[in-house]
Amino acid sequence: MKKLEELGEFGLIDRIKSQTSLKNTTSFVGIGDDAAVIDQGSHYSLLSTDLMVEGVHFDLAYHPLKHLGYKAVAVNVSDIAAMNGIPKQITVSIAISNRFGLAAVDELYEGIHLGCEAYNVDLVGGDTTASRAGIVISVSVLGEVTKDKLVLRSGSRENDILCVTGDLGAAYMGVQVLEREKQEFLANPNMQPQLENKSYLVGKQLKPDARMDIIHELAEKGVVPTSMMDISDGLASEILHLSKASGNGFTVFFDNIPIENLTLETSTEFNINPVVAVVNGGEDYELLMTIKQEDYENIKGILDLTPIGFVNNEKMNWLVLNSGEKTEIKAPGWK
Ligand code: ADP
Ligand code: MG
Repeated sequence: MKKLEELGEFGLIDRIKSQTSLKNTTSFVGIGDDAAVIDQGSHYSLLSTDLMVEGVHFDLAYHPLKHLGYKAVAVNVSDIAAMNGIPKQITVSIAISNRFGLAAVDELYEGIHLGCEAYNVDLVGGDTTASRAGIVISVSVLGEVTKDKLVLRSGSRENDILCVTGDLGAAYMGVQVLEREKQEFLANPNMQPQLENKSYLVGKQLKPDARMDIIHELAEKGVVPTSMMDISDGLASEILHLSKASGNGFTVFFDNIPIENLTLETSTEFNINPVVAVVNGGEDYELLMTIKQEDYENIKGILDLTPIGFVNNEKMNWLVLNSGEKTEIKAPGWK
C-alpha cells in the first residue's frame, strides 16, 4: 500500500472517489467538482463543505475570529459560485477547546452572520463539540442552479477563452506579511504592527469575498461559462484540475494575469518570485472559467473578468512568461 504522503491530497481524494459508487439517480455529480450536484427534477441542488483547522488553515495570532467566521462562509459560497449557482443555506459545526470563552464564540458568530448577510444565506443548523486543542470550523452550504445554467469543471472545448476574476497573488503575499509581523511581534511584543499600507493584501487573506457579483453579471449578460472552478489552491493547481476534468490542455499568458501593484512590490520586498505568488499561491477565491469565443463580446463589459489564456489543442498545460519562455504547468506537491 502507498503511503499517505506519497498519495497527496488529490491522490487521496481520487482514491476515495474510486472506492465510491453512486446508488441514487438523483446524485447527478458526486466527488470531483466544487460542489455535488443533486437532481431535484425542476432544478439542481448544490452541496459543498469545507473544513478549517486552527494551525493548519488559520493562525489566531493574526486572524481575528470575526474575519475567520466571515471567511468560513465566503469560501463555501465560493464553491457554489464556481458551479454558477446561488447559495441559500449553511450549517456551521464548531469544535472548541476550553481556551476559548463566550466572547470568542460570539466574535466568530458575528463574522458568520455578516457572511450570511453579505451572500443572502441562512444559517440553519450545525453541531457543537469540545476539542482537545484549538478551534475547528466546518461549514456546509446548500445552493441552487437552474438546469441550463449548471457549470462543471469538465465542460471546456478547444479554443475556449480562459478568464479569471479579480487579481491573483494578493492573498499569498498577505500571509507573508502577516507571518513577518507575527515574528517581529514575538521578538518584540511592544512593537506595533505595520499593516496599514498592506491592508489590501492582508484583507484578501483574512477576509476574502466569494465572487457572487460575477455570477450575477454573467446571468445579466446571458453568458454561461463552459467550465468553471474557484481558485483555492492556486492557479497552477486549478488549471490542472480543469485540464484533468475536461481532457483539454490550457495555455496561460502570465502577462495577462491581473496582479495588483502592491502584490508585485511586496513580492520584491520579500524576495519572492511574483510567478510563485501569482501562479502557485492559493486562497485568492477568485473564479477561473472558460467561455466560448462567441461570448467574448458579451463579457467585455464585465470589468473584473480578464482573459488570460485559451484551451489549446495540445492536451498539455503551458505557462507563457513575459519573456516568451514557455514552461509546462506541473502537479504541485503534497500540502
Ligand atoms: P474545493 O477546493 O473546491 O473545496 P476540494 O479540493 O476540497 O475542493 O475537493 C475536491 C472534491 O473532492 C470535491 O468534490 C469534494 O467534495 C471531494 N472531497 C474532498 N475530500 C473528500 C473526502 N474526504 N471524501 C469524499 N469526498 C471528498
Ligand atoms: Mg472549489
